[in-house]
This record gives sequence, structure tokens and C-alpha cells, in this order.
Amino acid sequence: MIRRFVKISGFIFAGFLVMDMFMAYQMNNGYQNDQAMAVSLKLSVIRAHIEKEITQNLLLVYGTANFISVNPDLSQTEFQQYAKGVMARQNLLKNLGAAPDFVIKYIYPLEGNRQMLGVDYRQLEDQWELVRQVRETGDMVVAGPLQLVQGGRGLIGRAPVVLRTAGSPGFWGVVSAVIDVDRLFANVEIDKLEDLEIAIRGTDGTGDRGEVFLGDRSLFDSAKNAVLMNVTFPSGAWQIAARPKRGWATHHPFSWVMHGLMALFFLTVVFFVFRSLQDIAERKRVALALKKEERKMRAMLEASYDAYVMIDDEETILFWSPAAGKMFGWTNEEAMGQKVHSLIAPSRYHEDAARGIEQFARTGQGRLLNSVLELEACRKTGECFPVEMTVAAFRNEGRYYAVSSVRDITRRKKAQKELEKMATTDSLTGLVNRGHFMSLAEAEIQRSLRYARPLSILMIDADRFKNINDTHGHDIGDKVLQALGATLESVLRSTDTAGRIGGEEFALMLPETALPAAMALAERLRQTVEQKSIPMSGGPPISFTVSIGVAALTDPSQGIDDLLKRADQALYHAKSSGRNRVAS
Ligand code: GH3
Ligand code: MG
Ligand code: MG
Repeated sequence: MIRRFVKISGFIFAGFLVMDMFMAYQMNNGYQNDQAMAVSLKLSVIRAHIEKEITQNLLLVYGTANFISVNPDLSQTEFQQYAKGVMARQNLLKNLGAAPDFVIKYIYPLEGNRQMLGVDYRQLEDQWELVRQVRETGDMVVAGPLQLVQGGRGLIGRAPVVLRTAGSPGFWGVVSAVIDVDRLFANVEIDKLEDLEIAIRGTDGTGDRGEVFLGDRSLFDSAKNAVLMNVTFPSGAWQIAARPKRGWATHHPFSWVMHGLMALFFLTVVFFVFRSLQDIAERKRVALALKKEERKMRAMLEASYDAYVMIDDEETILFWSPAAGKMFGWTNEEAMGQKVHSLIAPSRYHEDAARGIEQFARTGQGRLLNSVLELEACRKTGECFPVEMTVAAFRNEGRYYAVSSVRDITRRKKAQKELEKMATTDSLTGLVNRGHFMSLAEAEIQRSLRYARPLSILMIDADRFKNINDTHGHDIGDKVLQALGATLESVLRSTDTAGRIGGEEFALMLPETALPAAMALAERLRQTVEQKSIPMSGGPPISFTVSIGVAALTDPSQGIDDLLKRADQALYHAKSSGRNRVAS
């Protein structure tokens, strides 16, 4: 079972693992998208803010260029006044200057910038290229951000001034303004995005092709997966890259909860699998034990001489053991489904049996239950025989069933009878023995006294029997005693009883016989014996005589002892008065 459990658990585990991995992938993937989305949202706010600031400031440069194009001959004072007005509105411009024919002539504020006056752009190697572009493209060119001489970083926007006065169209020079980039970034509160790592590229407005001027340049490596966004402004663009400072989280912060739940789910499933496997194993074990038990039972039933029969509450036979087949002569096929009583009970039991079964069906009780009974049962041949039967009942699904074991006791009964006979009979003569004669006589005397009926007793003793033994031997003596017994029986009436009550002493009990009739019978007996000669093989026949004492029941207070004593006394008289006679 354990091996099976481990195997099944392994399969389930594999299934759960795949499920868990898939769900984790979905979850983390979704979470990564969420992170990117959150970063994008923050970034687009910054982007819009930067775009707005730069565009506004660059438009001022355009404005100045336009102003000059219509006032090409403005005085230093006029420029100062114009610039002051512009700068008052806009706090990102560090300075504003104009260079007719590339030579710086106007600058505001003069304070701190005076050294720039008279500078020719053509002499500034690092700036000339861009300034030249202004003229060539006729459009604004953005430079920087770059480190300013006076400190800080600035983005320089330069716009061409093209004269539109009638008659003299042409290039006048350039207007330039320095936008304070540090303040710009302060304004858009870029450093407030504490959890984001940010970098910006696009020096000189070159967008994604330009140099990185803010943050770590490696943020643009594709491996970093940073969110990229373009900042476009008049005549240029930047690109901002951003990603969470701690990098992209690859795992959803609650993915462990999901793993935990999956593990819990797995354990629950495994637990139930274990329980059900245990259950199956237990049921298998029980079924096996039952089977074993049943085989044992079957073997016992088959080996048993006793018949086992099971019936339902309608006395229908449901089980018929092999011994039952042998005992009753009905095969299993013949017996199954039959009514048990009509099959094997003598017809005289049928009425009682029907009542018993009816009671059994209702109550599960019955006369035959839980006791050992001796009854009769009949075979297929119709022959009936004594059986000993025990019946046990059980209940199943609301109905009662009975199982009976039936034992054939024919032999036991016969043996019992033989024993009884041995106990009551004299083996030499076949007459009743002394003990039995006494009890029969006792019962008969009681009956006679109760009904005031006459009864007589004869005591018979062989005369000089010692001589017969001495002359012919003990064996011949026995034969003579047997002959005497037979003679006694031959004179008996059906109601009389003869018994051997001593060695060569016999007694006769004569119910319904008064003394005269008893005397007559005794005399007849005496004569019969006297006249009888017993043939002997290899010798002359033997003759002998008997003396008989007779006593009759006269007094209701007399018992058997008195009566026998009187008969004994009478016998003694018969002996003493010469033998071969009857006395009373
Ligand atoms: P009587 O009665 O006439 O006085 O003389 P008796 O010889 O019969 O004397 P008693 O009654 O004293 O002796 C009985 C004899 O019967 C003694 C014994 O040898 C013999 N006897 C008793 N039982 C048996 C028996 O079962 N078989 C044989 N063969 N002899 C028996
Ligand atoms: Mg005797
Ligand atoms: Mg005798």
C-alpha cells in the first residue's frame, strides 16, 4: 500500500508542480507587466512636464528672434528692456542673447555675462558647428545640456533671425538662450521619483542617438529592460529611460502565498488519497479475511457429518451442506429453494412448523431456537429417523434467517436402547433382572393398592441345584436355568412379569390375581417343571423340580418388601416340607 501511495503521490506532485509553475509564470508575468505599467505612468507624467517646460522656454527664443526680425536695429537698451520682460515671466532662462552676424552684441542680464560681449561664434570651436547649423537649416538648434562656465548645466536653444523688412530679406544672426537644466529637473521634481532609476539621453536634441547626460548610461542597455519614452520639443528630442531602483521584481510579492496554497492543496489531496488507499487496503484485508473464514467454514461444513441448512423467514432453503445431501438424499440442486419442512419433516410436524415459521418471521423467535432438540426427520426415500437439531437465528437487512445443524442420532438411540435393556434384563435368561423386577413390582403394587385390585407374587427356587452343578458342571447348570426361565415365560399371561432375582431364584408378579388363582398357577408351574426333562447332547436328559412360595396383597399398608418377605417365608415352608411343592 505504501508503495502505491508513494507512486500516486508522485504523479499528483508532478501535476501540482506543473500547475504551480504555470500559475507562478502567469502571476509573475502579470506582475512584471504591472510594474512596467506603473513605471510608464510615472514616466509619462515627467515626460509631459519636461516637454512643456522646454517647449515654453524655446518658444521664448523664437519669440525673441521674431522680435528682432522686425526690429533689426534695436538699441542695447531696447534689447535689455525686451529681455527683462521675457525673463520676468520665465524663470528657467539663465540668459538671453543675440548675435548679429555671429558676433554677440546683446546679452541679458549683463551682470556676469559681460565677458561674452563681442565674442565671435566662429572663434568658438565647440559651438560653431551648431551655430552654423542654425543658419543652414534656418531653424532652431538645441545644444547641450552642457556644463556652463558660470556653473550649473544649461540647454542652449538658438534660433535664426531672418529679416523680413521689405527690400532687405536675409540672415541677420542668431538668438540664443540658456535654459537652466538643473532647475528644469528641479521643477519637474525628477528627484522625487525615489524608487526609480532614471537616465536621459539626447545631447543636442538628438533623441535616442544622442549622448547620455543624466543618470547611468547602462540603463539604455536592452538587457535592463528599462521603460523608454521620447521627450519631443521644437527641433529636437530626448529619450528617458526608467526602471525600478531595485530592478524588475521577477516574482509577484504574493507568489509565495500561491505556492503555499498549492502546497496545502497538494497535501490535502495527498491526505485524502492516503485515507482512501488505507480504506481500500482495509477493505481488501477484511474481504480476504472473510474469504479465508468462509473457506474454513466451508471446509468445516464439508467435513462435518452434521447437516447444515440455512433458511429464510419463509422457510425457503438457501444453503444445503454436503452432509445434508448425504443425510436426506436430496442433492443441492433439488433442495435449494424448497420449503424445508415439506422436504424433510414428518407430516405430523407440518402444522406446528407453519405456525413456528410465521412467528419466526415476525419476531425472530421460535421454539426450536437456542436449544438442543430430538426430533424426527425424513429422507427422500420416505424413511424417517431420529435427529438432534440446534437452530440459530440471525437478522440481515430487516429479515430473519435461521441456520440449523441436524445430526442423525439413529445409532445413538439404538445404543441407548441396548444400554437400557442391559440395565434391566438378566443376560442369562432374558428375564428382567432383580432391580428392574423390584421397580416394576413396586409400581404395580402401588397401582393395585390405589384401585383396590388383587395382586400376587410367586417366589420360585430350584431344588437341590447345587447337585446339578456338582453332577453336570456349571455350564449345564446355566442351561437348566435358561430352560427354567423359558418355562416361566411359557406359563405367563400377558400382564404377568417374570424376573430372575437371584442365582437360581425367580419371581413372578401376577396383577389382577388373588391368592387362589395364584396358587393354581403356581401348582401348574410346579407340575410343568417337574414333567419337563431338558435334553442334553451327549448324555441323558436332566429333570429337576422347583419349590414355590405364594403371597397375595391383602393389606393396603403392605409394601413390596412385606410381600416378598411373605412369599419368601412361604417358599421356606415349601422347602422345609419336602421340596417340589407350593406353599402360601
Ligand atoms: P435347596 O435350594 O433345595 O435347599 O438346595 P440348593 O442346592 O439349591 O441350595 P442353595 O439354594 O443353597 O444353593 C444354590 C446353588 O445354586 C448354589 C450355586 O452353586 C447354584 N447357583 C447359583 N447361581 C447359579 C448360576 O448362575 N449358575 C449355576 N450353574 N449355578 C448357580
Ligand atoms: Mg436358592
Ligand atoms: Mg435352591
